Amino acid sequence: MAAPIDDFRSDTVTRPTPGMREAIARAEVGDDALGDDPTVQRLEARIAELLGKEASLFLPSGTMANQTAVHVLSRPGTEAVLEGTAHILDWEEGAAAAWSHVQLRAVDTDDGLLTAERVAAAVRPPSEYRMSTSLICVENTHNASGGRVLPLAELQRIRSLARARGIPVHLDGARLWNAGVAAGVPVRDFAAQADTVMVTLSKGLGCPVGSMLAGSAEVVARARRVRRRLGGGMRQAGILAAAGLYALDHHLERLGEDHERARRLAEGIAGVSGARVVPPETNIVMIHLERPGLEAAGVIAHCEEAGVLVSEFAPGQLRMVTHLDVDDDAVARAIPVVRRALEA
Ligand SMILES: *Cc1c(COP(=O)(O)O)cnc(C)c1O
Repeated sequence: MAAPIDDFRSDTVTRPTPGMREAIARAEVGDDALGDDPTVQRLEARIAELLGKEASLFLPSGTMANQTAVHVLSRPGTEAVLEGTAHILDWEEGAAAAWSHVQLRAVDTDDGLLTAERVAAAVRPPSEYRMSTSLICVENTHNASGGRVLPLAELQRIRSLARARGIPVHLDGARLWNAGVAAGVPVRDFAAQADTVMVTLSKGLGCPVGSMLAGSAEVVARARRVRRRLGGGMRQAGILAAAGLYALDHHLERLGEDHERARRLAEGIAGVSGARVVPPETNIVMIHLERPGLEAAGVIAHCEEAGVLVSEFAPGQLRMVTHLDVDDDAVARAIPVVRRALEA
């Protein structure tokens, strides 16, 4: 038998479990663009409830959900303030500029975590001849920093500042589920600090496709039109929504296991000279290659030969992510492989 491949590149690589496939097979469906898909409607209601919002909308991807929110909440020719390595800034193909004609104002941080002070400094005071700010975006957990949790108290301070200035807040919560579990905070408490919240089904929850955008009934109604304009209206999407409902029942509570495995993975790899491992708060382990001559491509190739897949997140930076499809054995197998590759 071929040696197992342990894929730590991302939490998006999961395949639907047999139970999830069964739920998909049994899904009751209809034409969602005509408002006829009962499974999509159940999922949208359930996510709205979980996030404490009036409504939610099922979209094909987190990127489309983020950009739908940006489009609905911002105004052309204004700025959206966000952290300097935010997904919306670095990984969405300039969509905010291309579709919404919004300029992104990046706020530098050391650790990926925005603070109310930094946001306040970046938000433009009202003026007739200077750029104005129409949106603030926050990300939780913060991907590029290695899945750090933006604490609820800080988010509350950002929210009250935004409120005082009359600026809406969008929460990119691709991994909000992880933030909730790690912080022991109900996701609705985080969600309450934003006008719109995006959550992903296709990462830690292990679904094949889909993200949700939640907000007030009025905002979600506008988002539904924008989704259609972007080509994201779907027909018998209950096939996909069924996976989401299944995941909420079976894959939400277990996210702590991913965090525990990430912690063990990081501890197991740490200590190789010239490779700095960031202790993870959730399910992402970042490894910074700081020894001259230690190249990401070489480490990745070395690992791959031994059946362990890791990804290059940025130049000189590797990322390993734990998820539904890597178990304790996979972590135990990966540690010596990655260590050897880093030592080589
Ligand atoms: C993955 C991710 C997204 C985008 O989700 P896709 O479904 O891949 O488009 C958005 N924000 C963050 C923080 C992410 O990690």
